[in-house]
Amino acid sequence: MKPAGLAAVLLLLAGCGDATTEYKTSEYVFGTLVEVTVRGVAEEKARAAVAAVSEGFRRMHKDWHAWKPGGELMTLNAACKTGAAVTLSDFTLDQIKAAKTYYAQSDGLFDAAVGEIVGAWGFHADEPPKGRIPPLATIRALAAAHPGMDDIHIDGHTVTCANPAAGLDFGGFAKGAAVDWALAEMKKRGIANAVISAGGNVGAMGSHGDRPWRIGIRDPKKWGVIASVDLEPDESVYTSGNYERFREWEGVRYSHIIDPRTGMPVDHILSTTVIAENGSLADAASTALTVAGMRDWPRIAKRMGITRVLMVDDSGTIAASPDMAKRLIFPEGQKPNLVIRPIE
Ligand code: ADP
Ligand code: MG
Repeated sequence: MKPAGLAAVLLLLAGCGDATTEYKTSEYVFGTLVEVTVRGVAEEKARAAVAAVSEGFRRMHKDWHAWKPGGELMTLNAACKTGAAVTLSDFTLDQIKAAKTYYAQSDGLFDAAVGEIVGAWGFHADEPPKGRIPPLATIRALAAAHPGMDDIHIDGHTVTCANPAAGLDFGGFAKGAAVDWALAEMKKRGIANAVISAGGNVGAMGSHGDRPWRIGIRDPKKWGVIASVDLEPDESVYTSGNYERFREWEGVRYSHIIDPRTGMPVDHILSTTVIAENGSLADAASTALTVAGMRDWPRIAKRMGITRVLMVDDSGTIAASPDMAKRLIFPEGQKPNLVIRPIE
């Protein structure tokens, strides 16, 4: 398997000309390589903060796992089959509330309750599945049961799930939520400048010394970056794509991003990149806009409060919102033809 984190976004950290200290670690979590870079504090302080963050990541990894039992989400998923009520922690409840908001804002295109369908396609496994695709009748039956975040009911700390076809899968926004939490945790510990990259997804705070954090957005068609962006102090850049996790059968590629209306994997969209201040929202939006596709993304972006979007499809179209277009820095002599689409 390719090193997903490295492949999706290349952190451009070269050329540090000042004496500022930099502390860097990486670990494999959430099925991807997570790299944490901290600048401007003593190594001891950076090390302690990164250790706390790493412990938090492991807890989330366990509690939010969509197919390995033992965590809170799997307890809730089991309860979807029986209608039983479960009690969840504040932290997981907050994520369920966020997922309900994204579901409403995206007209149901971002649906963290599609876990049963994601699993039926074989993506609830560490390695992407191989061979024949599942019977489409199974997929259609699941989609026809309309699993949605409005099947999840919250009453205080008690959660119930009203649809046996529903199963929670935080894969579309967990990295964003985890990185947001990690940056906040580091801030509490007196760290002002840091960047976390989790497989195509980058959250930043502060700056890289006397210049901004510069992040490369991977070209989904070939090795290399399509453009780079300089992040404002608290911005995140999230990319959702079908070029890393997919299965192939008889020459057709089936991606892990599911259109909840049909249960079918999204096709034609190679990648969608979103910049926003909230990483969880940026992550959810990059998935939602991928489902929305070339025609509908400006409308869904507007509903989700997103203004910076870049989308690449398999016909070669590269579309950007005006606010994103302003931010893109192309490699020397490689400015592509951009289709500018206002958010409306
Ligand atoms: P990546 O994880 O590669 O960064 P995404 O952020 O787009 O990509 O997340 C894709 C994951 O989101 C899938 O693996 C699955 O767990 C989940 N998912 C798939 N379809 C949807 C959907 N329509 N809404 C919300 N989550 C989804
Ligand atoms: Mg996402």
